[in-house]
Amino acid sequence: MSGFKVMRMEQIPREKNHRADVLAKITADGYLYRKGKSLPLLRCLHPGGATWALSEVHSGDCGNHAADETLAYQILRMGYFWLTVHQDAKQFAQSCEACQKTANLHHLPPERLSSISTPYPFAI
Ligand SMILES: [Zn+2]
Repeated sequence: MSGFKVMRMEQIPREKNHRADVLAKITADGYLYRKGKSLPLLRCLHPGGATWALSEVHSGDCGNHAADETLAYQILRMGYFWLTVHQDAKQFAQSCEACQKTANLHHLPPERLSSISTPYPFAI
């Protein structure tokens, strides 16, 4: 302030000052946070961090190979966020080789239904 000859303070309304909103969300630890529903603050991840989070939650040590929406909400409940979390979770689950091999498929051959006659009820 000592280098300036003239100083003027001007108040900019909050709704017009988006830059201040972004700067206010950056905390002392250097991460950007977003206000969440499940947790007060969700840490915003960069694309590399998003890939790590998807891999850990889907097929990590405690991963249960959850499908798209479940995977996305597990990540949000863990406190992480990025803009395309739902699309990325769906794409990641669809590209998992283990999930594709053990998908819920019918393994019986298609066959017409046929009636079975029994001598008395509940005899089968
Ligand atoms: Zn999987």
